[in-house]
Amino acid sequence: MDGKGQNSTGNKKVTLNPRDVFLCPDCDLVIPRIDIKPGEKLCCCRCGCVLDAPVENSAEKTMALSLTGLLLFVPAIFLPLLTLDILGLESTGSIYASVKSLLVSGFVFTGFAVLLTSIVIPLLKLMLLCVVSAQVCMHRGSRITVAMFRLYNRLDEWGMLEVYMIGILVTIVKLFHMASITYDTGFFCFIGLLAATLLSSSMLDENYYWNAIYEACQNSARRQATAETLVHAPSDVVEERI
Ligand SMILES: [Zn+2]
Repeated sequence: MDGKGQNSTGNKKVTLNPRDVFLCPDCDLVIPRIDIKPGEKLCCCRCGCVLDAPVENSAEKTMALSLTGLLLFVPAIFLPLLTLDILGLESTGSIYASVKSLLVSGFVFTGFAVLLTSIVIPLLKLMLLCVVSAQVCMHRGSRITVAMFRLYNRLDEWGMLEVYMIGILVTIVKLFHMASITYDTGFFCFIGLLAATLLSSSMLDENYYWNAIYEACQNSARRQATAETLVHAPSDVVEERI
């Protein structure tokens, strides 16, 4: 390949800028980037995979929803969800109490699985999303922001609050005719937490986030380079004079 962009067979070398193209995650087709408006979708022409679906004010909406989720997290996990009254015997419990009960009863693996998927990972996901969204809103970014957003995407499949909700609904349906069910504060906080988590994921515009973080990192590197030049400039001038 020579410097004029031609190889030995005379074919032209084409260099693609990552910001000008999409790579379809399903069929690996390279597609030129097209600017589309919020509410529109860009789909792969070969397999139909959605490549881009911009959301208006994605960072602001995602940050507000993740912050709401964080505020609801503590009451949703620690306050009782339901009170069951079966023949005068009342029993109540929270998510934290159920995890503790599993661990104390000897179901260590199940207890840890529930602890991770219902408490630790959802909390970590909300915290990461809130911090990354705040960084994107302020047009800031660094390697740490990249690492945090990558970790959020990796953890996305491991938060299973929805599964816990299905378990609660199954309990309600099964015991509806046998017990008197009272919905406690924790239940409504949990519904709010679930809604905030699902909405924050749907408001997240990944392409916009990656581009914003990339631009912020580039700007930061440029500013740092300029600052270093200014710091070293006087000494260079002095050395040249000597
Ligand atoms: Zn495709």
